[in-house]
Amino acid sequence: MNRRSFFKTTAAGTLGVLLAETAHGTGAGASRPNIIFVMADDHASHALSCYGSVINKTPHLDRIAEEGMRFENCFVTNSICAPSRAVLLTGKYSHLNGVPTNRERFDGGQQTFPKLLRAAGYQTALVGKWHLKSEPTGFDYWNILTGQGVYHDPTFIEMGERKRHRGYVTDLITDFAMDFLERRDREKPFCLLFHHKAPHRRWFPDDKHAHLYEVVDIPEPATFNDDYATRGTAAHTQEMTVEFHLTPEDLKQEPPEGLSGAALKHWKYERYIKDYLRCIASIDDNMGRFLDYLDRSGLAENTIIIYTSDQGFYLGDHGWFDKRFMYEESLRTPMIARFPGRIKAGTVCGKMVLNLDWAPTLLDVAGVEIPDDMQGKSLVPLMEGRRPRDWRSSFYYQYTEYPSVHAVRRHYGVRTKRYKLIHFYHDMDEWELYDLKKDPHELKNIYGKPGYARITAGLKRELTRLRKELKVPAEG
Ligand code: CA
Repeated sequence: MNRRSFFKTTAAGTLGVLLAETAHGTGAGASRPNIIFVMADDHASHALSCYGSVINKTPHLDRIAEEGMRFENCFVTNSICAPSRAVLLTGKYSHLNGVPTNRERFDGGQQTFPKLLRAAGYQTALVGKWHLKSEPTGFDYWNILTGQGVYHDPTFIEMGERKRHRGYVTDLITDFAMDFLERRDREKPFCLLFHHKAPHRRWFPDDKHAHLYEVVDIPEPATFNDDYATRGTAAHTQEMTVEFHLTPEDLKQEPPEGLSGAALKHWKYERYIKDYLRCIASIDDNMGRFLDYLDRSGLAENTIIIYTSDQGFYLGDHGWFDKRFMYEESLRTPMIARFPGRIKAGTVCGKMVLNLDWAPTLLDVAGVEIPDDMQGKSLVPLMEGRRPRDWRSSFYYQYTEYPSVHAVRRHYGVRTKRYKLIHFYHDMDEWELYDLKKDPHELKNIYGKPGYARITAGLKRELTRLRKELKVPAEG
């Protein structure tokens, strides 16, 4: 009988947990690890210095990578806010968890990993951004922002009760996370989801960082002036350019008189990127404060802490802000994890991992059985430095929020280590193919070009296989 089938026949969760601890070599008497899952909103990995950012420094967040593991190839299955949160909770693709776009209301009656942890004896809490319209379920304690939330003096809903708080959103969310840890039931292990609003649009910094970068010029990214020459309709018709689609509210200032063309575009970029990075500077400061608190309270030891984002973001890349497209900058998301005794300090994992993997991973960390209908994989073997031979070599992506804000067309696709094949569908039928080794910035669509017929056919077969395996409905 293998471990998984044994769990299925075990009625009592407690026995399963004890066995799981033995299996992990921590001994039956060891206490179960605590879980802290910190998720920012729209924090691209190329705005973290541990990922090689050339535009900012994040010393406190980098500490998690230095003391733990950096996943250098973490991706999302649908690059948009509420859908990524629903994937986190369920471990299922958008077409199965009921939140394919930002419009749906999350069905809190369905299976989620916090509910399973709670049933196994974990105390569960959620603090900060939620944005799934329904009330949170499966949490012993929750204190969430209303809707998208605001940066200054935000209103929170604490266990059903609305209250406006004075202060800056990132400071407040960090305070609430520490308050929960102070007041928690110390007899139980805990799982805390600690979710920032920052650095989501419209990027209002706090007073402390309001003048950061004032006297420097942030360099434009290499693809800032991408002309989409080889791409299809989707790139040409989107509405998320720095040049034309940032609003006066986003920029918060009138452009200086006489600016036009490239100079005006550059001015807008500087306005945008500096506020975005100022919001991240506050996250980084607060993470320093939080990590110090974990050290002081003795919680750093038996706790896994993960920092990530709900997706990546265009930081002027391809001339854009926002996310949604399957191109690298928004497909990727940062993921760094510290887990003393289980993750070796200063390690890097290059395997392709997904936001789909977070739910199964956190269940596995707690020694709780991973349900068969979750579609991700536990990252615990990777965290422990093992190299599973059957790890995924491709993954499926799908974005469906069109027509909608930013006008990014519906598309799905497959990414392997080297190639990416994208199909724009619904009201069009266009394909794009990129060779990520030869063309890491994805500037040359080679779909239909001579010499790629065999590669394209192989990727299409893989796409069909994945769509079937993942129970994706017919195109719509
Ligand atoms: Ca987001």
